[in-house]
Amino acid sequence: MSGWREATARRPWRISAKLLIISSVVTVIGFSAVCVNVMLDMRRGEEALARQTLENLATSIDADISRNIDIYDLSLKAVASNMLLPEINTVSKPIRQLILFDHATTAKHFGAIQVFDADGNLTIDASTLDPVPENRGSEDYFTVHRDNPNAGLFISRPMLFRGAYSIVLSRRVSDTDGGFMGVVAGSIRFTYFHELFERLSLDPADTITVLKRDRTIMMRRPFDLDIIGRNLNDSQTWKADNLRVGGSFAGQGPVDPTARLYARSSGTGPMFVVAGKPLSTVFALWQKEALRIGAVVLVLALFVLGSAIMLAREIGRRADAESKLEEMATTDALTGLRNRRKFDHVIDIEWRRAMRQKTQVALLMIDADHFKAYNDTFGHQAGDQVLVGIAICISDAVRRAGDCAARYGGEEFAVLLPNTSATDALEIAETIRAKVLGWSDGGAGSTVSCGIASLAPTSGMDWAVLVAAADKALYAAKAGGRNQSVVASLPKLSLVA
Ligand code: GH3
Ligand code: MG
Ligand code: MG
Repeated sequence: MSGWREATARRPWRISAKLLIISSVVTVIGFSAVCVNVMLDMRRGEEALARQTLENLATSIDADISRNIDIYDLSLKAVASNMLLPEINTVSKPIRQLILFDHATTAKHFGAIQVFDADGNLTIDASTLDPVPENRGSEDYFTVHRDNPNAGLFISRPMLFRGAYSIVLSRRVSDTDGGFMGVVAGSIRFTYFHELFERLSLDPADTITVLKRDRTIMMRRPFDLDIIGRNLNDSQTWKADNLRVGGSFAGQGPVDPTARLYARSSGTGPMFVVAGKPLSTVFALWQKEALRIGAVVLVLALFVLGSAIMLAREIGRRADAESKLEEMATTDALTGLRNRRKFDHVIDIEWRRAMRQKTQVALLMIDADHFKAYNDTFGHQAGDQVLVGIAICISDAVRRAGDCAARYGGEEFAVLLPNTSATDALEIAETIRAKVLGWSDGGAGSTVSCGIASLAPTSGMDWAVLVAAADKALYAAKAGGRNQSVVASLPKLSLVA
């Protein structure tokens, strides 16, 4: 009984210690989750910003290239149509040059426009009135127009053209019936791209790749001749879907192993541009910030958890101290049984419980026989030892969880037995008496007398009735010659056999 009561008294402390730990852990987990979420949001923001910047860069480069190709194409178209003028073969060469070629063809990075006849022989050259004879009948930019009247503007693979790396642009010259008259061709030198890229402020690891619609790499920064001219369709690892128009891709690209964020231009020109930035650069600032915030959160989490553990330990210590104090306050120092104060408390509770549940409560009042004489003969200390011995005998016999054995005062003991009949109580009293007798072996003359009462309390009845009845029975046992147990005879109404 009393053990159970102590446990419940201690429990609120234990619960609050556990609650403290749990709430701290939940707080730390919740706070960390929020932080991680914010960090991921920041990362997504950084990526979106970088993607937009790269896409804008790629699109503006694309626009510049498309505009130059358009300008050059206009010149090629003009030459192709002017070649049909009947006068073109009759006027002098300088006049013919003036008619065929405008100023665009003399722009910085554009090669001179050349006209080849149906066999591929060079007939007219914008840079000279008397070109050195040459035949280009086997070049792609010639055969494509010879074999296909609707090839339109053809852009060649990057190649060495007149001593400089260039891409060749060509158009078919057709007569009025659509017959093949030859090809007009010009070139855009790589220096154009180099200069275009130099104007941009780019990190060394950033890439700009210019590709033809058929996914041939036309130009790349950083410049590498081995890569120029490669077609990405030949790549096993790189799929066209990885980077759609206006889209982006994060990871390893088709050319080098550096993981980058790639964005593609959204233009519709004959070429498209892909701009790339290493992911390490894109997330460099974010990484620094994430590390900083992560470290602060970690320190805070450790602090909160550390404090919670320390507080919980302190609570545990206090709970232990409190239960020890309570134990001390309710225990008889000599015998280790419950003291009178505790007994009064327990009988009060059990009495009311029995009243509610309509059960009976039994009480044993045990008193050492001729104890004064024992003390006088063997001394007070020996007397104390006998009291301890009697207490041990009582504890041995009273083992039920709800029972309460107490030192009632001096050499008197009380045992409260909830839910016990007088018969059962008598049995326990006799067990105690026999134990004391056996222990003292009769030699020391230490025996006990026992008064027993058992009652089913009715409302309005005080537990003093039970004590008085047991006490009375004890006197009867004393009067009857001691070393015996007597059951109280109670008025019929409250007597329980
Ligand atoms: P009876 O059989 O009628 O009970 O005789 P008795 O001598 O036991 O009864 P009485 O009440 O006259 O004496 C009680 C004695 O118990 C008085 C006291 O010396 C002794 N006593 C009371 N408390 C203690 C205690 O804590 N230690 C010791 N050693 N003796 C105690
Ligand atoms: Mg006494
Ligand atoms: Mg006595």
